[in-house]
Amino acid sequence: MQDTPHEILRGVFGYDAFRGQQADVVEHVVAGHDALVLMPTGGGKSLCYQIPALARYGTGIVVSPLIALMQDQVEALEQVGVAAAYLNSSLEAGRAAEVEARLLAGELDLLYVAPERLLTGRFLALLDRIAIALFAIDEAHCVSQWGHDFRPEYRSLNILHERWPEVPRIALTATADPPTQREIAERLDLVEARHFVSSFDRPNIRYRVVQKASARRQLLGFLEDHRGEAGIVYCLSRRKVEETAQLLREQGYHALAYHAGLDSGVRAANQRRFLQDEGVVVVATIAFGMGIDKPDVRFVAHMDLPKSLEGYYQETGRAGRDGQPAQAWLCYGLSDVVLLKQMIESGDAGEDRKRVERGKLDALLGYCESTGCRRQTLLAAFGETYPQPCGNCDNCLDPPETWDATVAAQKALSCVYRSGQRFGATHLIDVLRGADTERIRQFGHDRLSTYGIGEDLDANQWRSVFRQLVAAGCLSVDAEGHGALHLTEAARPVLRGETTLSLRRDIVRTRDRSRAARV
Ligand code: ADP
Ligand code: ZN
Repeated sequence: MQDTPHEILRGVFGYDAFRGQQADVVEHVVAGHDALVLMPTGGGKSLCYQIPALARYGTGIVVSPLIALMQDQVEALEQVGVAAAYLNSSLEAGRAAEVEARLLAGELDLLYVAPERLLTGRFLALLDRIAIALFAIDEAHCVSQWGHDFRPEYRSLNILHERWPEVPRIALTATADPPTQREIAERLDLVEARHFVSSFDRPNIRYRVVQKASARRQLLGFLEDHRGEAGIVYCLSRRKVEETAQLLREQGYHALAYHAGLDSGVRAANQRRFLQDEGVVVVATIAFGMGIDKPDVRFVAHMDLPKSLEGYYQETGRAGRDGQPAQAWLCYGLSDVVLLKQMIESGDAGEDRKRVERGKLDALLGYCESTGCRRQTLLAAFGETYPQPCGNCDNCLDPPETWDATVAAQKALSCVYRSGQRFGATHLIDVLRGADTERIRQFGHDRLSTYGIGEDLDANQWRSVFRQLVAAGCLSVDAEGHGALHLTEAARPVLRGETTLSLRRDIVRTRDRSRAARV
């Protein structure tokens, strides 16, 4: 084909101009070179391999991990007259044979294939008999074993380079953190390839973090401002997904549940309604979303802490792909921190992996507790420097107050110490506030020197102190037991009065912009 990339962009896809780095990537791959492309969701990764596949002789082979994604892409391509097909387990044998025949006849511009099928000896032998324009490896972060989308078959994809060294490869992902990027480059043998790293900023998304007081009420308050809009509400567990979806339906929302425990037919139907109907709210576990291309998702709400900042970034990245204002809302509390820390510590992962996971959780907590611009914190985690505060996040719009919490922290930490480092925040707060409970009497904690020394703060304020002390690493959470807190090395200078501690004053809002109660 003699058409230039620009002619294909216009003639086939009907767009006037390339976006961002698309033109550079396309030119590079058309010339036969390898590329690793990091672009945020909605950035326009698909054209980066589709156009070179059309511009080069032969068929472009696209490795893709998700059946739904392949179908969407192939349908969209067929609509603009590109000869595209896919091969995966959803295809019955007869249809698969047809696709293979078209492939061998050189009729296909693009073929999407699942990694496990691509790697079969039979399929590789098939590829030996055709002209290959390029290999595109979509969702390349699936090669990373630290990510939650890990696909073991992706590890074997370096065979493509060994077997067809002259065919250009382009790997693409929206996951941006530098360690994952390095892992992708190494695993896929793309260290020498040119890396195209786009800015990951999504300026139209407004980031907000609220401290959990009554999560359901807070969610309803948030949603009240978004009635009739399409959005996603993420929850950690299937049960919570069901409960929350039920709650929203009772409140008159068109809410549908989505999690891996649902029948696949129900899942597919709910996904379809989300894509086709207006104003559907999907309440989901993180099983929902990869490859969902719905431009007008107006909000992504998290009822629980996500697993990592990258995960959070990807999940929230599903909002506002049309460039219109969108909201990323996260509700987070001490119990989330305790739960996630326990999940890491009690998991059977090796010490190396646990260290990585702890680091990821700390980065996430740093984001949640940040008093500065959220966007700066978020992008910094991806190795990007954002020059000034963004003006479109909660901390920029409504700068949080901080207070000198040194004395409060000392009281909290010594209460942990005096009670033997065996109790969770709820009990410790009772002790500090001089409560008269069964447990306090049982353990004789009314005789501790820290009993009743914290009456100056209410229980919510103390929860905020404990949460921030855990996030700051002064307290750690037991792997077993019910969230028992103990002191860390970092607690010492605080206890000894060698350092001061400034904490954010939490604001619990029942409704956005309305009454705000300081705690
Ligand atoms: P990604 O895979 O990076 O999430 P897509 O390739 O799905 O992004 O592109 C996102 C949207 O942007 C799609 O609707 C696509 O048609 C549109 N798009 C991509 N490139 C361009 C362009 N150069 N001009 C106009 N629209 C584009
Ligand atoms: Zn900001």
